[in-house]
Amino acid sequence: MWINSCFDGGNIEVVELTGDRTATLAIREDTAAPFRQWFYFRAGGTKGLPVTLTIANAGEASYAKGWEDYRAVASHDRRDWFRVDTRYEDGALVIDHTAPVDVVEFAYFAPYGLDRQAGFLAELQVRDGVRRTSLGLTCDGREIDCLEIGEGTRPCWVIGRQHPGETQASWWMEGFLERLCDPGDSVVAELRRQATFHIVPNMNPDGSFRGNLRTNAAGANLNREWQEPSMETSPEVYVVRDRMIETGVDFMLDVHGDEALPYNFIVGPYGVPGLADHVLALNERFCEALKAANPDFQTEHGYPRPSADGANLTIASKYVAHRFDCLSMTLEQPFKDSAITPDPQYGWSPARCAALGRSCLDALASVINDLRPA
Ligand SMILES: [Zn+2]
Repeated sequence: MWINSCFDGGNIEVVELTGDRTATLAIREDTAAPFRQWFYFRAGGTKGLPVTLTIANAGEASYAKGWEDYRAVASHDRRDWFRVDTRYEDGALVIDHTAPVDVVEFAYFAPYGLDRQAGFLAELQVRDGVRRTSLGLTCDGREIDCLEIGEGTRPCWVIGRQHPGETQASWWMEGFLERLCDPGDSVVAELRRQATFHIVPNMNPDGSFRGNLRTNAAGANLNREWQEPSMETSPEVYVVRDRMIETGVDFMLDVHGDEALPYNFIVGPYGVPGLADHVLALNERFCEALKAANPDFQTEHGYPRPSADGANLTIASKYVAHRFDCLSMTLEQPFKDSAITPDPQYGWSPARCAALGRSCLDALASVINDLRPA
C-alpha cells in the first residue's frame, strides 16, 4: 500500500505502513498555524483488500468533538463521495474500507479543488450579466475572484471558504451561483432586478491549496481579521473589505462548515453594538423562510448567542453588521450528517450543500424588499 497527499488540498503524514492493509497516519498542522482537522489523501495498491487506516493524532485536532459520530468520505472516481466505516477510539480515528479500484481518495469532507473552481468561474463568466473581477492578490499571489451579478441598487455580498477546510462552502456556492445565473428562474430574475450581488466564492485559495483547516499562507485566521486586516498577513480580507466600503452592504452571508454540530444553522448578528432593531427581525424572517424552503435547515440548534454588545467584531458577519448596520450572517453546515434529515450513504454531501445554496435565494427573496427601512 502507498499513501500520498502531495496535491491540491492534500493533508496527511504517514507515520507507519504495515504490510498491505494497515497504515498509521497523522494530520499535519496548517502550514503556518497550530490548527489541524482537515485531511485528504490517496491510498493505492489495495484493490480488493480490507484496509484499516488509523489517524493516530485525531484526538489532538482543533475540534476533537468533531470526530464523535463522524464518518470519513471516500471516492473511487472523484465524483461520488460516500461515507465509509469510521470509528473514534482512544484519541484515534480509524477508517475501514475495501475498494474495488486501484487508488482510493479519503477526505474529511468532499474536497473542492482550485482547478474545479477555475472551471466553474469560467463557465459562469460567459453567462448573461455576469461580470468577473479580481479584487487583489493573496499572500501567495493568487487572484481573489469576485463575481458581480445583477443590476439593482441593493448591494448583496456573499463570501465563502474563509476557512479553507470547510469545502461545504464551495459546493454551496455551486448551487447558489448556478441558480443565480438561471435565466428561467423568476425568483432570481426579481432578485437581480433589485440587487447587485458581489460574490467571492473562495476567500482563501492559498489555504485551500495547502490543505489547511483554518488559515491562509501567513497563518492568519481570516475570520478573525475583519477589524484590522493587514496587506502583509491578511490581504484577502483587506481587499474584500475595501471593496465592501466602496459598494456599501445591505446584505452579507458568509458560508462555513462546523466540525462538531450535526446541523445547518445561521449565526445571526446578535450582540452587535448599536444594531438597528429591524435587522434582528430580518434575521428571524430569513431563517424562517430558509426553513420553509429547505428541510435540511433548522433554527433549534446552533451557537449560544453572545451577551448584549458582546459580539466579536473581528468576525466577518459581526463586523459587517456593525459597520453597515445591515443583515449580515454566518451560515454553518455540518461535516457529519444532518441529524434531522440523515442520509446513511452520503451524510451531509455536496449535492445537499448545493441545494441549500439554491434555497438561500428563496430566503433572500423573502426579505429583499425590506433590507433597508423605507
Ligand atoms: Zn468556519
